[in-house]
Amino acid sequence: MNNNQLMWFRRDLRATDNAALYHALSAAKAASSTVHCVFVFDESILKHLPRRDRRVTFIWDSLLDLKAALQALGGQLHVLYGKPVTLIPQLAQQLSVSQVHTNHDDEPDALTRDCAVAQALQDQVMQLATYKDHVIFERNEIMSQVGNRYSVFTPYKNAWLKALTPFYIKPYPVASYSVALDATAQPKPWPSLNSMGFDDSYRMLTPAGEQGAQRLLADFMSRMAQYHATRDFPAVKGPSYLSVHLRFGTVSIRQLVNAALTQASSEGGKIWLNELIWRDFYHQIMHHHPQAMTGAFKSEYAAIAWEQGDTADKRFNAWCEGRTGYPLVDAAQRQLNQTGYMHNRLRMVSACFLIKDLGIDWRRGEAYFATHLNDFDLAANNGGWQWASSSGCDAQPYFRIFNPITQSEKFDEKGKFIRRYVPELADLNDKDIHAPWLAAGLSLKAAGVELGKHYPLPLVNHADARNTTLLRYAVVKNSKDLV
Ligand code: FAD
Repeated sequence: MNNNQLMWFRRDLRATDNAALYHALSAAKAASSTVHCVFVFDESILKHLPRRDRRVTFIWDSLLDLKAALQALGGQLHVLYGKPVTLIPQLAQQLSVSQVHTNHDDEPDALTRDCAVAQALQDQVMQLATYKDHVIFERNEIMSQVGNRYSVFTPYKNAWLKALTPFYIKPYPVASYSVALDATAQPKPWPSLNSMGFDDSYRMLTPAGEQGAQRLLADFMSRMAQYHATRDFPAVKGPSYLSVHLRFGTVSIRQLVNAALTQASSEGGKIWLNELIWRDFYHQIMHHHPQAMTGAFKSEYAAIAWEQGDTADKRFNAWCEGRTGYPLVDAAQRQLNQTGYMHNRLRMVSACFLIKDLGIDWRRGEAYFATHLNDFDLAANNGGWQWASSSGCDAQPYFRIFNPITQSEKFDEKGKFIRRYVPELADLNDKDIHAPWLAAGLSLKAAGVELGKHYPLPLVNHADARNTTLLRYAVVKNSKDLV
């Protein structure tokens, strides 16, 4: 009988509280049929990634965890490599499926892919059924009273909080319906990471899979109440480190919002919930303004002339490699290169530095982060970069330019974070470590630092760069920033 169901996992690698999996199971129960599960390593995405990519290993490890969870519930997991538009209809045909279930992915390329898959399924008289899972509110769910979309965070957040009822954060009871999972299918051996061209030993520090996420969450629960006070200091274990799990759906956003609400009376709990709402906010921006994923959200910012040529390339490369001569920026970039994570405060400092001290087009930095961040998420990354470049929906005004030295003194006062990632400066005193070129010769000598040899001289002078940036941004002076 052709009424089996196929669950297609993508950025939702968990067997618990998963909208599409739940719907597949209940459809199978109603039709007295079974549910098969599949994940496709999409070759059109993988071909653009570096051969050593921690995210691909994280997916692989999370799939092992998912397979174990599905097996414990009585199911199996097929893992394929190729083009979903071919493989999904093919597998669906083989398994006598009538409906393929999957969760929404609102990135522009994913929407194009899903349209093609839906069409290919339709050609074989099958359906693609899709569900909201990745965010609490999506697409047009949060609109102003007169039906306008929001592009400023605070009114969006207020409307989000007003709309939130227990319904939106109720977990999907997957386990209660798991009897419909198919236990008889015998999936083919999975494609190995090596066979897909990836180094299988290149891992992130973050533990993978649902189990990894639950460990991180349990650890964060005891720290959440202090989040507001600790989150800005990169040397302190302040944030949750859950972003990569949110990215790949190894944790449910509903579970996290519920967790935040249990501590909503604390300042930390409130602020952390705020961050989860920022995530929803940027996803609905991507839905309403897909053009902002490739260019300035505020169109007048497209007129800015960025540095070009060899000087720009040299500056950009120095920034990528953590050789700008500004210790906090360099520590940030080296943290990214060494671990795939960068602390939120440092993402703001480093992005701002690239754009407003080095004069480099924000899209080059955005692309670098996209390649190197474990938690790379198109909507959040674009939102963060457009915030820093002031071209975004709810961005910092163009004339607000972080001073990389005062940021360093404020958020890494004792230089603990800098010492971890820029060890050549480790012996400098707590004052000089923020701006070594201002240190007395004796102090540098005592710390064994020769500028230009052990550590670079600053690429630019911040005060001069600030003036250049204000001139560069003069083309947008008449925008709303000045109001
Ligand atoms: P926590 O502080 O514990 O926050 C909890 C969760 O809230 C995060 O995991 C994340 O999902 C969400 N969140 C927090 N801050 C933001 C924010 N400003 N915008 C959207 N969601 C947020 N976040 C990504 O997930 N992927 C990215 O590619 C990304 N790129 C960024 C680029 C720039 C230039 C900037 C300034 C920020 C970027 N962020 C991105 C947002 C933020 O820096 C990270 O979400 C955060 O540092 C992840 O660490 P955490 O999980 O410990 O966060």
